[in-house]
Amino acid sequence: AVPVTVISAIGSASKFGVVVKSGAAFEQFGSIRTVAFDKTGTLTQGHPQVTEVRTTAGFDRGQVLAWAAALEATSTHPLAAAITAAVPDASAAEDVHEEAGHGLTGRVDGRTVRVGNPRWLNPSGLRDDADELAETGMTVIVVEADGAVIGLIGVRDELRPEAAETVRMLHAQDIDTVMLTGDDARTARTLAAQAGIDDVRAEQLPADKAAAITQLAASGPTAMVGDGINDAPALATATVGIAMGATGSAAAVESADIAFTGHDLRLIPAAFTHARRGRRIMT
Ligand code: ADP
Ligand code: MG
Repeated sequence: AVPVTVISAIGSASKFGVVVKSGAAFEQFGSIRTVAFDKTGTLTQGHPQVTEVRTTAGFDRGQVLAWAAALEATSTHPLAAAITAAVPDASAAEDVHEEAGHGLTGRVDGRTVRVGNPRWLNPSGLRDDADELAETGMTVIVVEADGAVIGLIGVRDELRPEAAETVRMLHAQDIDTVMLTGDDARTARTLAAQAGIDDVRAEQLPADKAAAITQLAASGPTAMVGDGINDAPALATATVGIAMGATGSAAAVESADIAFTGHDLRLIPAAFTHARRGRRIMT
């Protein structure tokens, strides 16, 4: 049975748009020591924009974007939306396979095209360009056709305006913060520094994110905040999984214990105050 005090804490929490799957989860939330955040679509706006395209000799910007967009049209990843938005009339791709945390492969205009991160697809001749874009906080997407790199797409996804304030609020509540991301280490460090997070675990595949949560949870109850895209296992592994934003994927809400209908990260420290009050009344 769920203690009455927890129910009343949930009751007041629901005023600011929180769906709690169980009283136990909300109660545990009041004891968390660490909050781990997914980056893309959680700490960032999740509305990334194409800001740079670099190409290898013989290919132009339009060609690189068009082939990438043909594949990305099949994906729900926030990066996919950035690329398709940059190409109004992309060709159709066939046999597209998405590899979680890596990218996509498919057939476009008779070629085998791949789009993905610089660890999965070696940027080869464009290595220096890839490094340069990542240093400035852009996510770098490599585009390959028939096994050869044809270009890079630099995508910028700004931090959410309340991210740094949220991190300060959590630190004031004596809660540690961590960024978990599948993105490149340099891109991640640049954005984490802006948010005030100093523990950054980058280049994490979905299973790595879950393993990182297990490791963090060994030193105290740990919450994971994500959007369900490539972080559903981590949400499920955390002491308390938190899905942000009603626009988040169904996977997020399914894997989470607590879902916020609004996307304002400050709801996390606010809900923590409520959850702790609920605990204090009980004990
Ligand atoms: P995050 O942890 O920041 O939310 P993800 O785990 O969702 O990032 O993705 C990790 C990385 O995998 C991305 O930064 C990107 O490089 C690559 N990636 C994943 N999905 C796609 C896609 N649809 N198109 C291009 N790259 C992708
Ligand atoms: Mg994500």
